[in-house]
This record gives sequence, structure tokens and C-alpha cells, in this order.
Amino acid sequence: MNTPLPQQFLDTIAAQMPAHLSITDLINACNEPLRFSIRVNTLKITESAFIDLMTSKGWRFEPIPWCEQGFWVNIDNPETIPGKLPEHLLGMFYIQEASSMLPPVALFNAINSKETFNQILDLAAAPGSKTTQIAALMDNKGLLVANEYSSSRIKALHSNLARLGVNNTLISHFDGSVHGDYLENQFDAVLLDAPCSGEGTVRKDPDAFKNWSLEHIEEITKVQKGLIVSAFKALKPGGTLVYSTCALNFDENQGVCQHLLDTFPGQVAAVDLKDLFINAGEAVTAEGYLHIWPQIYNSEGFFIAKFTKLVATSDSTNPTFRSKFPFTPLSKKEFASTMALLQTKLDASSIHSENLFKKDQEVWYFPDNSEQLTNQMRFVRHGIKLLDIKPKQQIITHEAYCNFGIYQHELSRSEVTEYLKGRDLAIENEHQLKGEVLLGYQGRCVGLGKWVNNKVKNKLPRSLVNDHVECY
Ligand code: SAM
Repeated sequence: MNTPLPQQFLDTIAAQMPAHLSITDLINACNEPLRFSIRVNTLKITESAFIDLMTSKGWRFEPIPWCEQGFWVNIDNPETIPGKLPEHLLGMFYIQEASSMLPPVALFNAINSKETFNQILDLAAAPGSKTTQIAALMDNKGLLVANEYSSSRIKALHSNLARLGVNNTLISHFDGSVHGDYLENQFDAVLLDAPCSGEGTVRKDPDAFKNWSLEHIEEITKVQKGLIVSAFKALKPGGTLVYSTCALNFDENQGVCQHLLDTFPGQVAAVDLKDLFINAGEAVTAEGYLHIWPQIYNSEGFFIAKFTKLVATSDSTNPTFRSKFPFTPLSKKEFASTMALLQTKLDASSIHSENLFKKDQEVWYFPDNSEQLTNQMRFVRHGIKLLDIKPKQQIITHEAYCNFGIYQHELSRSEVTEYLKGRDLAIENEHQLKGEVLLGYQGRCVGLGKWVNNKVKNKLPRSLVNDHVECY
């Protein structure tokens, strides 16, 4: 960080900081570069397989104590750009700041006795670091609603879900303050990773304080209060809410939590996070929230609070849902013929008739129990597309191959890099094979090719071709 922190911020924060921490340490920490960290995506590869693979490429891993899939990484080759690696494009890892891994960990109590949830709402989801982390903790099962208000950020959310192989998600595109009315008492767990002033991100983003002002904090706090009330209402009785921000000030954090407690007296209880992981006590507040100051764990700043809903709410304005649902379930006959086709190329063991829906000339895989929600609210995307139906042919989509494909030929790292660049591959065709071939890398299907003599012709969809991928 080269820009000095605004004096008004320092004055406000100095008055709010716990007595055992010093403002000088905060300023010094904010001036230090952040440690590079990643989260291994266990939907694509195990932690140990990823460590073995990348250690051989000069990566050195240090485990993040609060997230089993999280690591600080030092890379021997200074030219490596992690976001350009084939493993990144194939969704084996997500570049994610260590403290930002905490909200999903708190939601699941993932280090101690991991909880399981059938239906989860992520109310402010883009670009999807935590949605993809939650999907991995759910093992792609159950139903995960990812909501994002900003049209421009929905695209990034969708592409990250696709890249990481997430298929249990419905995406909604609303101001999150409406979910509590449309879907009251619905979810086992809700994450609200709220829009915020972003004060805690200054080590990564030198412009983090560009638009900082007390007036902006006042405005954003109003939004956060509307969202936390909605998030809470959307929870089932007994359900779990995690509220998080990357802000450091009291108003956006403890203040918003207090608003929740005041709005629903006797209906909500805070959960103490002091034992969430070893040394969590160093960041815990009197209320049991985690207030991660950047100097405590040498990370970005973050705030995480956890609540339980004790009894059902009955606060919904019962809005009417008018939109016509454009999908229909498959008939028995259509289901049988679709499965017959899918089973030739995919592991279809987790695809059941309740999961398959059609719209126009497409067949989609919907997460389990989607129908419970699709008649209550509009979603802009449901699960993943499996098939395009053409007049003479049904074409299995690339996304279906990447999620369920059983591959026939394993590519080397340099071959998969060429494949992602859209190039044909020169591969000795020992058995004189012909026609389509499913290609794999590190145990996962990566897409389709076609044998032509000693060559595999590239059948990666043009929209996914990436000229910049590099295997350092
Ligand atoms: N959870 C995300 C992740 O881990 O990748 C980061 C979320 S970011 C802190 C907050 C998000 O909330 C932004 O994408 C922003 O566009 C969105 N947002 C802003 N106002 C919103 C609202 N009223 N309802 C829902 N989302 C909103």
C-alpha cells in the first residue's frame, strides 16, 4: 500500500480497536504485501494430489490453520502467473485470501465437527469464492442458491461455478433484501458476505480507500441491515446464519449484528466462534464474533459472526410470484432415451428423473429439490446444461463432460495446456482409434477430442479457448 490511510479512518478505528492491539501495528501490517494463498477445489482434485502435483512444479505449501483446503504458497519460479496455469483454468484451485475462507468454515464448523446442510443460500455471491467453497463442502450435493444483485458480476459468478465444476446451484439475480419475503423459513444455512466498505482489503487493493467516507459507511450500513434481516428470515428455525464483511469498522460489523439481535429479540442467538480453530481466541470479540485485524494472522481484515434462528419468523410480506417457469420435467420415455445416451459417455449414477428438465431444445440437470424453490422465485440459471437437441442429433455439452464425463485418454500437462489453447494434439494412436475421445487430466474429464490418425482434433468449445494459458 503506497497511499496513506485516511486520517478520519485512523481516528475512527483507533477509538474502536481492542486495547491490546495498536494502531501502529495495523498501519504497518497494511503496508506489508499479502501472502499469496489458494484453496484447493476438492470437487476436482484432493488436497494431497494437488500438493504432489504442484510441489513437483516448485510450489511450497504452508497450511492455513482454519481451512483444510487452504494454503499459503511460495512459488520458486518468479515468472509464474498462477491464474494462467492449466490447473487454474481447470478449476483445481481458487486464488482466495486466507481470511476470506473463514465464513464458509464458520458456517459448517468445518474444522471441528463438520455440519451437513441440504439447502443453503449465499445471498451476495459474486464472484463466487465462497459459493464454490460451500459447494465443495456440500460435495456438490443438496441445493445451493447463489444470489447476486449486480448484472456485471453475475457473469463472473457463473464462469467460476462452471470452472470449478459446481452443479448444485440455482442463481438468482435480485436485491438480496427480498429473499426473506419470497423464501421465508426455507434454508438450513445462509451466508451473507455483505457488500461493504472493503477497508480490510487495502493490502491487496491500493485503491481500497478511494471512495472511503463516513457517509459511505452510513449508506452501506443501511443496505447491510436490510440484507441481514432478509437473510435471517430466509432461515429455517434451527438454521445457521453467517454474516461477514471485509470491513474493519464497528458500524458495518458489530453494529449490523446488533441490529439483527434487536429486530428479532428471543428469536436469534449468537454462536461463539472462539473455538472455531486453534488461536481463534486471538480475534474473538466479547460477543463471540471474529474480528480479524490484518496484524493478528498476517492476512486481510475480515469480520465473521454466526447466529442460530431459534424459532420461525412470520414477517413475510407474501409477495406474489408471477413469472412462468420455462422448464418442464422429462416424460418417462424422454428420460429413458436421455439416460441411454448419457450413460454412453458419463457417470450418470447421480442423475435421477427429478433432476432432468427440458426447455426449448435443451435438457438441463437441476440440483436436488429445485422444484421446492422454482415456484416461489425466479432464477436466472438452474444447475447445468447437459444436452443440446438438434434435428438429427443430441449433443452432450462440454459442461456435462467436465462434471460427469468418464474419460478415455489421459493428457500430460503440456498436452492439456495445448488443448486449452484450442490446438490439435499430436498423439501416437497405438490402437488406430477413430472418432470421439474423452480427454482427461489428473483424474478428471477435461473435454472432447476426435481421433484422426496420430492426432487428436481439438473439440473444446471456441468460447473456452484461452491463448494465455501457460504451464510454467
Ligand atoms: N461472497 C463473494 C465472494 O466470496 O466471492 C463476495 C461478495 S462481495 C463482498 C458483495 C457482493 O454483494 C458484490 O458482488 C455486490 O455486487 C453484491 N451486492 C451489492 N448489493 C447487493 C444487494 N442489495 N443484494 C445482493 N447482493 C448485493
